[in-house]
Amino acid sequence: AEEQLRQAQKMEAVGQLTGGIAHDFNNMLAVTIGSLDLLNRRIGASDARAKRYIDAATDGARRAATLTQRLLAFSRQQPLRPEAVDPNRLVSGMSDLLRHSLGGDVRLETVLAGGIWPTHVDPNQLENVILNLAINARDAMPEGGRVTIETQNAHLDSRYVASQMGVAAGHYVLIAVSDTGTGMPPEVIAKAFDPFFTTKGVGKGTGLGLSQVYGFVKQSGGHVKIYSEPGEGTTVKVYLPRLIGAEAEPASLADDRDLPLG
Ligand code: ADP
Repeated sequence: AEEQLRQAQKMEAVGQLTGGIAHDFNNMLAVTIGSLDLLNRRIGASDARAKRYIDAATDGARRAATLTQRLLAFSRQQPLRPEAVDPNRLVSGMSDLLRHSLGGDVRLETVLAGGIWPTHVDPNQLENVILNLAINARDAMPEGGRVTIETQNAHLDSRYVASQMGVAAGHYVLIAVSDTGTGMPPEVIAKAFDPFFTTKGVGKGTGLGLSQVYGFVKQSGGHVKIYSEPGEGTTVKVYLPRLIGAEAEPASLADDRDLPLG
């Protein structure tokens, strides 16, 4: 529990700090990009070299804006809009986006369990989480390889829960994202969820992907765990609470309930 508190406090402190800075930066970058656009129009087609400089400056400012928007999204702790979600449908619905993001050298495989339980989460943020994990998987396979996304009904029993921090025993939906990439040594696994921890180098990684995953999963009452060894690839298991009760039934049945009986 202490470890979890430490992680939560760290995320909150970093979130507040970066939120303020990112907000101001975002405004300044908007002014920069807007002014460059005006300058570009004024110069017109007459000066090709000046145009190239302006394009390079605009490109840099755009990339900086994308980064600050990611920082903002991370620090905002956006309110979640949970609803009943069929994990299989959500994963299937993402296959085009995922194939596109993974590129030609990485194969995507999905293994969707029949009779999967519904879960109760914000579907947009869950898509973001899966995309983040898939992109990490891709980055770990510069030579190409395979990403597998698997869904499963899962029961976390008291023995497992006792070995983990801050998890409740019970029924969960498991979404596992595996790759055949480089894998991670223990010291990287230990820090992987920390905000700004990245091994990808300047300008490549932000170190915010997995901390966003962690934040979402915790806010949703779930659990996330990394299984990885150098040279053996990586599996990230995301457990989301099973939705129980009225909403767990298919929408058509739930609608029927509102009709007068008889
Ligand atoms: P970023 O992707 O910007 O580096 P993340 O928080 O998503 O930030 O990941 C943190 C670090 O964890 C990565 O830099 C990488 O070292 C490691 N990592 C994450 N996912 C994987 C993976 N699938 N395979 C190998 N290493 C990974």
